Amino acid sequence: MARLSDQLIGRIKQEVSLVQLVEAKGFNLKPHGSDYVMCCPFHEDDTASLVITPSKNLYHCFGCEAAGSVVDWVMKTEGVSFRHAVELLRNEFLPLAAESTDQPKVIKQNSTPKLSTPFTAPAHPAPAALAHPCASAANADHQETLK
Ligand SMILES: [Zn+2]
Repeated sequence: MARLSDQLIGRIKQEVSLVQLVEAKGFNLKPHGSDYVMCCPFHEDDTASLVITPSKNLYHCFGCEAAGSVVDWVMKTEGVSFRHAVELLRNEFLPLAAESTDQPKVIKQNSTPKLSTPFTAPAHPAPAALAHPCASAANADHQETLK
């Protein structure tokens, strides 16, 4: 599993618009000054208690005190873990956020060579091929090339 860096999480919280996210999920936002209000999806609400503040990219409900960032929003509305929420946002929304800037996309190549995954014995009895002398010989050859 890919590691979630603080940088990525920070980017998502800053660059993924909570307003866009909420509208994309079909919620109805009403402008209220520099903020937006909507009926809170986290409690029975018919008075639009939930306020989204685009300048902070945060939401806060005055009815049930639900509050947080885009990541918290996805965790609560989708019922997923923090990691899952970050991955959903990265996959669905971060490409859009990146395109809205003027910076050219730079795909950074990972210069660290990938380590082959360590061999793990299968749970079922080992096939005959693994016990064959050729198998260990091939393995020795393989190790030679790595030196
Ligand atoms: Zn609420």
